[in-house]
Amino acid sequence: MAKVMAVNAGSSSLKFKLFEMPEEKVLCSGNAERIGHEDAIFGMKWNGESEKKVLPILDHARAVELVVEAMLEKGIVKDMNEIVAVGHRIVQGGKYFSKSELFNEDTEAKIESLIPLAPLHNKAHLVGFRAFKKILPNVTNVAVFDTAFHQSMEPEDYTFPIPKEFTEKYDCRRYGAHGTSHKYLSEMGLKYLPGVEHPRIISCHIGSGASITAIKDGKCVATSMGLTPLGGIMMGTRTGDLDPSVMNYLCKCTGKSVEEMYQIFNKQSGFQGVSTVSNDSRDVIAAAEAGNKDAQLSIRLFTRRIADFIGQYYVRLGGADLIIFSAGIGENSIESREDILKEITPALGLSIDYEANKVRGKEALLSKPDSKIKVVVIPTDEEVMIARDTFAFYKK
Ligand code: AMP
Repeated sequence: MAKVMAVNAGSSSLKFKLFEMPEEKVLCSGNAERIGHEDAIFGMKWNGESEKKVLPILDHARAVELVVEAMLEKGIVKDMNEIVAVGHRIVQGGKYFSKSELFNEDTEAKIESLIPLAPLHNKAHLVGFRAFKKILPNVTNVAVFDTAFHQSMEPEDYTFPIPKEFTEKYDCRRYGAHGTSHKYLSEMGLKYLPGVEHPRIISCHIGSGASITAIKDGKCVATSMGLTPLGGIMMGTRTGDLDPSVMNYLCKCTGKSVEEMYQIFNKQSGFQGVSTVSNDSRDVIAAAEAGNKDAQLSIRLFTRRIADFIGQYYVRLGGADLIIFSAGIGENSIESREDILKEITPALGLSIDYEANKVRGKEALLSKPDSKIKVVVIPTDEEVMIARDTFAFYKK
């Protein structure tokens, strides 16, 4: 038995989950928020109990100290040496990483060189890694990349039709995101496909950030997010794919800079922008049911963009054996799943049990036996994937 920590460091937050491996038992989980402030928040859950306190956490190193202190105080670990490895979520692994990697000096330098492709995320991940290294200098550290699973795409799936010089000089191409989740879902989905020789899976990770991935024989062949997580389907606050001239046109119309418009496309668009109600699908659905026309349009738009990608990937895969719904909306929103399924059923020959669809946050089979493609809900678990990969390096 060994204790392995999965860490997700953001610019002002540090989320963590401690696993007992190989059992994959969660011993505790928590979050330090508002790092850098006098009134930061530290919360932890363990053994059915929880605690939240407001206190100064001026940097990530202090946050890591708090994690360690809290785990010792609650008796989750008796000695910090019980933690044998720490796995770090890294958003952008660029062209360098097609799998998880030991977090050594070379990995650190490559992640640093990728900061221009994910300015907020990669910088914060490095701060988190360095903070852990300071407090736990002797443990195995592993970097687990959101982009790694998508590195199996072929050039015609990841190349943008821009001048070759830009593609090569600036590494400007599709990288995708949510790869750890899509990999987990595709592995978990295999149990629904006994005897299928070359499984074709369309995995829909639909939360406030959302992406769809086409997976053949366990490998990603196409994914909806692009250079950054702004691309693909419409999301809570993000546009998803747009005609690139929208940027130019709106900058001219409004006098805003490209950077300002980019922020609007990231933070004020999607459900928020179209519905003008909220970025949260629950609020938008409630408003639509109360007759709000903008909310109704935003839902139809969201549904159609998802159906478009599922159709595209059905062709890309030469058919499909399994469609998986996951993440906040995919796992919980009965209405959204029903809308999407009704949109794709005529073309794909689905047969759906809409009573079985009335499920939230639980794994479930939604399709009937006569459906041409199986449809399931599988709750995602990125942390357990991080812990699995990290534990594998520790055992080597
Ligand atoms: P995520 O980013 O994966 O946490 O997903 C956030 C999205 O999931 C938001 O749009 C929420 O409205 C949606 N969501 C979360 N819980 C529920 C729920 N119980 N019912 C419907 N939608 C939900």
